[in-house]
Amino acid sequence: MRIFDPHIHMTSRTTDDYEAMRDAGVRALVEPAFWLGQPRTNVGSFVDYFDSLLGWERFRAAQFGIAHHCALALNPKEANDPRCSEVLDVLPRYLVKDGVVAVGEVGYDSMTPEEDDAFARQLELALRHDLPVLVHTPHRDKQEGTKRTLDVVRESGLAPHRVLVDHLNETTVKMVADAGCWMGFSVYPDTKMDETRMVALLAEYGTERMLVNSAADWGRSDPLKTRKTGLAMLDAGFGESDVDTVLWRNPVEFYGQSGRLELEPVAAGAVDAATGSSVLRGER
Ligand SMILES: [Zn+2]
Repeated sequence: MRIFDPHIHMTSRTTDDYEAMRDAGVRALVEPAFWLGQPRTNVGSFVDYFDSLLGWERFRAAQFGIAHHCALALNPKEANDPRCSEVLDVLPRYLVKDGVVAVGEVGYDSMTPEEDDAFARQLELALRHDLPVLVHTPHRDKQEGTKRTLDVVRESGLAPHRVLVDHLNETTVKMVADAGCWMGFSVYPDTKMDETRMVALLAEYGTERMLVNSAADWGRSDPLKTRKTGLAMLDAGFGESDVDTVLWRNPVEFYGQSGRLELEPVAAGAVDAATGSSVLRGER
């Protein structure tokens, strides 16, 4: 089983996770930019974070034979903090870099006017930079939030096939399917979607435009949920090719729209040259 995890925050995971992921069949991933766990106090915090996603984390992944890519953005939660909004001025110079395959994650958390503004501005950046977009949907008010998300996407002028709407469930999948966007599902140990419910949705909606991710981060999460979903699909009678569509071909097709996917893990030296970073002379 070859696996591309389209949404996982490796910064908060260990080398044991990388090793287990490699053994489970994970060969590529996308790490979207998200919050720090505590408030950022200035724009430099984003600059260091973006540089580390493009350099150090990519190097770490390559050591385990995993091709690392990222999506960069001001995430919805931090869009409400005035100390963070300045990042929208530095984002454009990052969106042109190798390894950046989307703008994300953007969207709504609490649906504030500040989030409206950051979301719209970043969809515009995606259009201008010809990049696909990864959109987070809120955990509260999910239906209302998803509906509003799709309205904003429609108004942005972005083609629906350039947009992946994530963290969907039974109550939100249909409107995203009807809108023509890609559908993302985060499979978690005890909240949101689980493998069994995921397989039921695949049986109902088919495998086209469907993506499954672990969205693993600092919270209780499991970076092997992609594989576990693949196994649950096989148990339920899906074929190997269906599993390959959901866990590999779909993410490759969606993020491939950036023109920047590199499915061979980048060698450490190449990452160093690309970022001009000296941090890669570290251990191992
Ligand atoms: Zn996330």
